[in-house]
Amino acid sequence: MSQTPFNLQRAAVIGAGTMGRGIVMCLANAGIPVQWVDNNPQMLEQALAAVAETGAHNVRQGRIDQAEADARMARIETAADYLAIRNVDLVIEAVYENLELKQKIFRELDGLLKPEAILASNTSALDIDAIAAATRRPQQVLGLHFFSPAHIMKLLEIVRGAQTAPAVLDAALDLGKRMGKVSVVAGNCDGFIGNRMLNTYVLETRKMLLEGALPYQVDAVLQGFGFAMGPFRMFDVVGIDLQWRARELAGVGQDAPEVQVDNRLCEMGRFGQKSGNGYYHYEVGSREAEHDVTVDALVLRVSEGLGFQRREIGAEEILERCLLALVNEGAKILQEGVAASAHDIDLVYLNGYGFPAAKGGPMAWADQQGLADIHQRLLALETRQGDHWQPARLIGELAAAGKAFADH
Ligand code: NAD
Repeated sequence: MSQTPFNLQRAAVIGAGTMGRGIVMCLANAGIPVQWVDNNPQMLEQALAAVAETGAHNVRQGRIDQAEADARMARIETAADYLAIRNVDLVIEAVYENLELKQKIFRELDGLLKPEAILASNTSALDIDAIAAATRRPQQVLGLHFFSPAHIMKLLEIVRGAQTAPAVLDAALDLGKRMGKVSVVAGNCDGFIGNRMLNTYVLETRKMLLEGALPYQVDAVLQGFGFAMGPFRMFDVVGIDLQWRARELAGVGQDAPEVQVDNRLCEMGRFGQKSGNGYYHYEVGSREAEHDVTVDALVLRVSEGLGFQRREIGAEEILERCLLALVNEGAKILQEGVAASAHDIDLVYLNGYGFPAAKGGPMAWADQQGLADIHQRLLALETRQGDHWQPARLIGELAAAGKAFADH
């Protein structure tokens, strides 16, 4: 049990959507009583039923007994408003990804909760400092970034705001341990550790579609390397429409060449697994991704329409660009102090992004190649493909000193 002033005994979760449900289960399964708020009572009712069903499923599978399932459910209580949760030690907010909405909720909670309570957001991308600024306790505000489905995925990114107190981080790490998570502390930047690296990797895979590759080829190469899932299968699972709608709402990014295939798929209602079609085809009730030649034809049409002269892109180039994009961004994250160590970055990739365990994570993989070699390969890509491949300063420095990321 934590010896910090922040002894987290009772929690509340705001939001009963996809993430709220998983987070509530993480807390209740760890023995922590949790109060649950959503401004949509019907959503809360459905969410509670869904959590009960997960418990019943676990009993049927023999993972837990009925007494344990009952004990978990007994720890969950719905609450009508914020006043009802004013005595908790921790609130985890998981409402829509909207800064103004989150700030409003944090401001209101700050006025009601006891002074030592901690306020956390499950935001995937918003600025934790901007959320903390809505309160008079920014030292007790942080990000607790769970991954979907939250009760299953091991990774917890603990996002440190500029003012988050060390004792608050300790309390969050302690909580992570109690929930059986692999916790990694990340600095507050766009995408934190995992999604910031993912963005560079995803951009590269989308560029390759336009230059000459096809989605199933890219996925086959990455799955061959050992990734649990290639990027296009991942888009189908997450839903291609999420980013499409976000770009539409923000009014930026919709014209970028790299998202034109996504845009055409969404205009056709091909949102991914949930709509039966996306980058792949899915038979009713099946999650098996089937190669769809109409998508290949669409990729060709889009890239040729944008004026690309398509060329053969081999497996080696696909792997090189994807892995080096991860490594170079990982190095920037390390040199900026967003991650405390290369090992932390590897933990994020192994536990949240399906990087093959046998390869140790992207930074360990780079160390195995040798950083002098990685540096040369990045320089070669920079010459061939442009500035965005410029090696991170840290790679040049470590390579010159004959060191590895693990030595940093
Ligand atoms: P969701 O749309 O499934 O659920 C959001 C819930 O918030 C809904 O039940 C809604 O009724 C409720 N809500 C909205 N306004 C509210 C208010 N004012 N007060 C109380 N409840 C309110 O969303 P989600 O996918 O669970 O995402 C929640 C957060 O988690 C977002 O910030 C998202 O970026 C982040 N996140 C999502 C994922 C993911 O894979 N879905 C992963 C990591 C982080």
